[in-house]
Amino acid sequence: MFIDVHCHLDLCKNDVVSKAHKSGVGIIVTAGTNHETNEKSLVFAKQSGVKAALGIYPIDALSLSEHEIDKEIDFIRKNKKHIVAIGEVGMDFKESQDKEKQNKIFSKFIRLAQELDLPLIVHSRKAEGECIELLEELGASKVLMHCFSGKQKLVKQIEENGWFLSIPASVKHSEQFQITVKEVSLSQLLCETDSPFLHPDKMRDNEPANVLESYKKIAEIKGITLKETEKAIEENYKRLFG
Ligand SMILES: [Zn+2]
Repeated sequence: MFIDVHCHLDLCKNDVVSKAHKSGVGIIVTAGTNHETNEKSLVFAKQSGVKAALGIYPIDALSLSEHEIDKEIDFIRKNKKHIVAIGEVGMDFKESQDKEKQNKIFSKFIRLAQELDLPLIVHSRKAEGECIELLEELGASKVLMHCFSGKQKLVKQIEENGWFLSIPASVKHSEQFQITVKEVSLSQLLCETDSPFLHPDKMRDNEPANVLESYKKIAEIKGITLKETEKAIEENYKRLFG
């Protein structure tokens, strides 16, 4: 089966789940970004083949008090049985320069993931080095760097740490992601769409069925069949999400 490890079903149009299943996408991990979308993710995850990740998006987190963040962390803790990962969490220095607060909040989520023994789905826009540094400092081991756009040196560091990189369907035209696929061992790669964002043909309304574009490009770059790619990525998914 094909697997989309990162998308936002709450923002997608109707029926994208059944369309994905028809295309052979057996698992879709939908990520929450705040309390409202975390609740929606839990509802989506009641459908077969849909799994929930709960977290607070770094920019959404900035408008919350420490008490509100702790309350959400408690909510996530209570729903441990219904989720497969902590995400979408991380830091974003493109949208906000409040580095200290972002660092503090991300630390809380890294510790939460360790406490619950769940993988982290990390957003690291313009904060790639800082996210890696903090994850290393706190000893995070189950890590998925989603849509990672940092320098190749950092890509190597992620690989050496035994963490995973999820390749978006936009790899179809993005030279940077194509280089990442070429440089990183197949055993550290996963596939995602970040639907409804990052459409492989730069259109609106991306959807999980398009994750096949990631698989096709990986197969092409690695010089293996689509079937071999499908199997390898499924194994990787099991290793990380267990
Ligand atoms: Zn996302």
